[in-house]
Amino acid sequence: MADSTTPLLTADRLSKQFSVAGTWPWQKRVLSAVNDISFSIAPGETLSLVGESGCGKSTAGRMLVGLTTPSSGRILFEGRDVAALSSRQRHDLHRNVQLIFQDPYGSLNPRMTVGDLIAEPALLFGLADKRSVAARVSELLGLVGLADRHADRYPHEFSGGQRQRIGIARALAVEPRLIVCDEPVSALDVSVQAQIVNLLRSLQDRLGLSYLFISHGLSVVRHLSHRVAVMYLGNIVEIGPKGAIFARPAHPYTQALLAAAPVARPGARRARVVLAGDMPSPLNPPSGCRFHPRCPFAIERCQREIPTLTSGEDGRLVACHRWRELAAHPAEAPSVRHSPRTAQLLALYRNAAAGSGHRIGIS
Ligand code: SF4
Repeated sequence: MADSTTPLLTADRLSKQFSVAGTWPWQKRVLSAVNDISFSIAPGETLSLVGESGCGKSTAGRMLVGLTTPSSGRILFEGRDVAALSSRQRHDLHRNVQLIFQDPYGSLNPRMTVGDLIAEPALLFGLADKRSVAARVSELLGLVGLADRHADRYPHEFSGGQRQRIGIARALAVEPRLIVCDEPVSALDVSVQAQIVNLLRSLQDRLGLSYLFISHGLSVVRHLSHRVAVMYLGNIVEIGPKGAIFARPAHPYTQALLAAAPVARPGARRARVVLAGDMPSPLNPPSGCRFHPRCPFAIERCQREIPTLTSGEDGRLVACHRWRELAAHPAEAPSVRHSPRTAQLLALYRNAAAGSGHRIGIS
């Protein structure tokens, strides 16, 4: 039996590798999508997973809802190892942990009415019968800000924001305790994003839901989260309370992500940490700290030694050899380090510009 301090869900050293075909049919390569990540989510809490596309955050979310099997590590729900559950208990777990997709249209059967789409999971899990299901559908439509008349319409008759509301109502139909929200607003207009985020917040207050919120939009994350985990190339590089992470990001990658995010207040200043190059391929990750080819603070040690998460006083964990030193002596990032290919292109541009006598604005 879980006590009040037991996290609702715990990811314990989760990893996921995919086998990928090489150039030749007999060649097999290993893509390391998620590496040894650990976190927990308390009842009523929102933990956000942020990072660039391809950093493994969606794979982590899919493992939690059972759509992808971890290669190693454990998932605990209320302290119980999911792998050791009976099929009946696993059925219960699937009811308790639901997923909201980025593109709800892709997950809604276009031949079913909205009423049937919302009724289906409630009937399947025995949470309503044929007589009571209409009232339940009406209640769920009201919860997500839609009207009863919408029940007879089809998904294609709705806007993107309304379809996301239908997706949320469908997830709520089974009375979950945790919802994994995989980029639920990134395909929506900014004004609609705010409506959906406010809806998720009010549902959390009313129903005591927990969220794992997967996003690359930091303004949304700031609005919704209690804690934030930053992922880079399959690893969590920093995790901690939202206030600490946004006020004083400790990992150079977190600093770069925040520096790249738009600022709402005109004239507001941020530390400049500029990333060079693209994220390396997870098929061939760099040695040592995976961030070292792009890190403006990298030293020789970073190339050979993998940093582990170490804890700070404000409840955060950071995976960087130099984070305490950098926090004690905050410095401007040195000039931008370009990848060899980018440096080569810039040299070509400069030479061409010098030959033509034109000035170009590349530094
Ligand atoms: Fe940068 Fe080194 Fe820290 Fe990695 S360990 S983030 S390369 S300073």
